[in-house]
Amino acid sequence: MFKTALQRLTLWYLCIIMLLSVGFSISLYNVSTRELNDSQKQLESLLEQSFFPGMRAPNNFQEFNRVRLQQIVDSRNKIKWNLISYNIVIVLAGAAASYFLAKRTLEPIESNLEAQARFTSDASHELRTPLTAMKSEIEVALRSDELSIKDAKNLLTSNLEEIDKLESLSAGLLKLAQNDKTLPVEPCPINEIIEEAQGRVESAAKLKQISFQIKTDDEVVMGERWSLVELFSLLLDNAIKYSPKQTKILIAAETKPRTKQVGISIQDHGYGIAATDIPHIFDRFYRADRSRSKEVIPGYGLGLSIAKKIVDLHHGRIEVHSQLGKGSKFTIWLPVV
Ligand code: ADP
Repeated sequence: MFKTALQRLTLWYLCIIMLLSVGFSISLYNVSTRELNDSQKQLESLLEQSFFPGMRAPNNFQEFNRVRLQQIVDSRNKIKWNLISYNIVIVLAGAAASYFLAKRTLEPIESNLEAQARFTSDASHELRTPLTAMKSEIEVALRSDELSIKDAKNLLTSNLEEIDKLESLSAGLLKLAQNDKTLPVEPCPINEIIEEAQGRVESAAKLKQISFQIKTDDEVVMGERWSLVELFSLLLDNAIKYSPKQTKILIAAETKPRTKQVGISIQDHGYGIAATDIPHIFDRFYRADRSRSKEVIPGYGLGLSIAKKIVDLHHGRIEVHSQLGKGSKFTIWLPVV
């Protein structure tokens, strides 16, 4: 599909270039031969007329006019052939330039389509995994002749877990698919946002005996309250997921009056991220190597893509500093009120 689009666009660009070039050449030819045409007409009439009434023009004068007439014809032919060769060069150079331009034009569309296709295939794969697990569990249970109430309950509990996974996956996909261009922003006190986000991850933190240390003042940022709560919940959730038990998470905020921004950082003392993984962690479905932690950490690799999308919608910035085995620090820069 791309090959034909590329060929068509190249052809269109070439047509435009040739239309301009041929148009320019025709006008140039008309302008530059107008005077030659006038002179040619004068010379022709001189050659046909007698020099004085009743007298023939001297031979050398007629010869001179004939030479001049030939020069005019030659000059016009020269202009014509020069313009034709110029247009042949333009066709060749224009074809190469058009191909290059068409390729440059289509490149972002092509990479966008590729990313979309990858996203769709990753999403289908992730959606299929829990469905396959549920299907095979149900099939095994149906084949069994002695399915007790206890077995049935176990099956339903396991199916419910898979449904929860599917629910969170489809919620993540929906958030990424939403095409919000702008958000209704309002002044949001950071303390309140962090408190709300902390409430959402409290049970997970308790389970791992992870405590929070909060160092914020009265910073207020411009943003959409619930998106910001979602953003910090995602970062806190990751900080908990990728930290061992009984560690601390530090949440701090600082204002940079010069850039009119507030930086809110979430620092954990967890497993950290390898330098080679850092450039990819915001990609959809990207999950770094988990072999360094012994526990199986749930997730689909969508959290940071959603976080990045929220930050972008706020015209903010997200920074990551991380060291394997020491921990990670995510800093979000948002516009101050
Ligand atoms: P998920 O957590 O579902 O895998 P994310 O998009 O939230 O997806 O994160 C992408 C990857 O970035 C994770 O798989 C993990 O390897 C890494 N990561 C994110 N946050 C942290 C963190 N605080 N500490 C260590 N690794 C992290």
